Amino acid sequence: MIAVAPLLAQEGAISAERIRADTRFLSSDLLEGRGVGQRGGQLATEYIATQLELAGARPAGANGTYFQPVPLVGIETSPAATLTASAGSKSVDFQWLDDFVALSQTQQPDTRFEADAVFVGHGITAPEWKWDDFKGVDVSGKIIVLFTNEPSSNDPKFFDGPALTYYGRWTYKYEEALRRGARGAIIIHTTPTASYAWEVVRNSWGHESPFVKLEPGDKALSCQGWITREAGEKLLGLAGKTVDEMLALSEKPDFKPIDLGIRIRASLPAKIRNLDTRNVAAMIPGSDPKLKDEVVVFSAHWDHFGIGTPVNGDNIYNGAIDNATGCAILLELARAWAVLPQKPRRSALFLSVTAEEGGLKGSEYYASHPLVPAARTAIDLNYDALYPFGRAKDVVITGAERTTVWPLAQQIARRMNLEVSPDAQPAAGHYFRSDHFSFAHAGIPAFSIGRATQFAGKPADFGEKAYQEYNSKHYHQPSDEFQADWDFTALQQAAEYGFLLGREIANQDKLPDWRPGEQFQR
Ligand SMILES: [Zn+2]
Repeated sequence: MIAVAPLLAQEGAISAERIRADTRFLSSDLLEGRGVGQRGGQLATEYIATQLELAGARPAGANGTYFQPVPLVGIETSPAATLTASAGSKSVDFQWLDDFVALSQTQQPDTRFEADAVFVGHGITAPEWKWDDFKGVDVSGKIIVLFTNEPSSNDPKFFDGPALTYYGRWTYKYEEALRRGARGAIIIHTTPTASYAWEVVRNSWGHESPFVKLEPGDKALSCQGWITREAGEKLLGLAGKTVDEMLALSEKPDFKPIDLGIRIRASLPAKIRNLDTRNVAAMIPGSDPKLKDEVVVFSAHWDHFGIGTPVNGDNIYNGAIDNATGCAILLELARAWAVLPQKPRRSALFLSVTAEEGGLKGSEYYASHPLVPAARTAIDLNYDALYPFGRAKDVVITGAERTTVWPLAQQIARRMNLEVSPDAQPAAGHYFRSDHFSFAHAGIPAFSIGRATQFAGKPADFGEKAYQEYNSKHYHQPSDEFQADWDFTALQQAAEYGFLLGREIANQDKLPDWRPGEQFQR
């Protein structure tokens, strides 16, 4: 066994027991599930800021405080929403939730429109793989109709093989629609292309969703929506086409957009409200007079679902694993950094972001309003939902291989006697679903230091079973609660790993970057 402690500045600098204590407090019923726009969220952010201050980190938020205000808007489409497709004398009405979900990004209470529909395959323009579904066709003012996901591939040199790339994510589809000036975008759901059933779409779109408040001049789609496969058959049927036929065409590199000859009419009334929330930010300055203007970011989202629909009589969504664990690690990192006798050359920013559960909104806001510009941000190392189930034998750092930090990341794992394990579900696109991705999207090298999959003294399938158990019974449920018998050693290891990696990066001569050919560049 290689002893880990000597790698750190001082014995016990990172403590499993302090990580346990913060996890317990942040996930206690008194914190009311840390809801965005709820009292529990205010208490959690106040606690995190206080702990950062006690650690000796300086305020890095607005007006000399530890807080960055994040203006969000909650949008809830009314069940009175309507969507109709027509061609000539034929028309089809779609039913809210049973056939379609949609919302207007305009943040206005009443959106109505009528526009032509164009089918655009997967709606992807990826020059690195010589793929362009648009072929120069102007879709401005139109409703684009498309499938999510990307062309099928087993070739790692084409859309990264079976792994999902960002081009395949539904969020990319709406972003591309907006870039191209479309009026809206409607995704035809199929279980294979979405990788989940319609119920998942229906459940996540059937209630209020937070968005970063639009600023003057910001563009917005009048409609971002999904329709079921059956509704898709009816819609395409108006143009004499079928879903299977269109799926097959979407696989072809010579695909060209198809003008469907269909008019789409919609009314999307919505409840709109302001949701004022905040990120917590604290800085420990670097020691190099020049490099201290650059920063290594550690992040972890503080929010969870707050007080909500009761399950088995419990209405507090404590979010102990998701993500009191990550916040507790963040606080411990700040303490360990603060007591370093020799500070690293670059500064360190400890950032606890809001509204991750609403779609990475706090980190998205940070990325567009960074406290240190992207060009001077070395990396973001994020923590989200770690398993306190014993001593880890590995570390999962999916996405590190996309960056120039990769050799160093492997070297530190070796020094700590940890394997680097691959993402267990590459087709699920986990890399695009946690806060580090908001940084990546803005060009900053970023990844999460994830939960371990192998644990010392446990069977090889223990990690996978723990994942299945947590995911099926406790993920996003009120039962994600602190357990007194949890062993936080793996979280201490994850914190030590991030500490060593972050410190090395903070001392390097050059800023990390993306490897050539990566989709996101500074
Ligand atoms: Zn989380």
